[in-house]
Amino acid sequence: MKLTVDTSKCSGHARCYAVAPDVFDIDDLGYAVPLDREVEEPVDDGITAGIAACPEHAISIH
Ligand code: SF4
Repeated sequence: MKLTVDTSKCSGHARCYAVAPDVFDIDDLGYAVPLDREVEEPVDDGITAGIAACPEHAISIH
């Protein structure tokens, strides 16, 4: 599975980084840095928390 951040949907809340700084990264303005990374099951709690924290639904696993 792949974890991705769709930066076209990102509004720079930095909530993903706040809950999982080891998974997500942000730029100086608080926008998520593009991410395209393989993930294994069980999905890391930080990834799940980041997805739940994003109000723009910019983070997904597919
Ligand atoms: S929580 Fe969502 S909108 Fe906010 S920085 Fe992260 S990806 Fe962007």
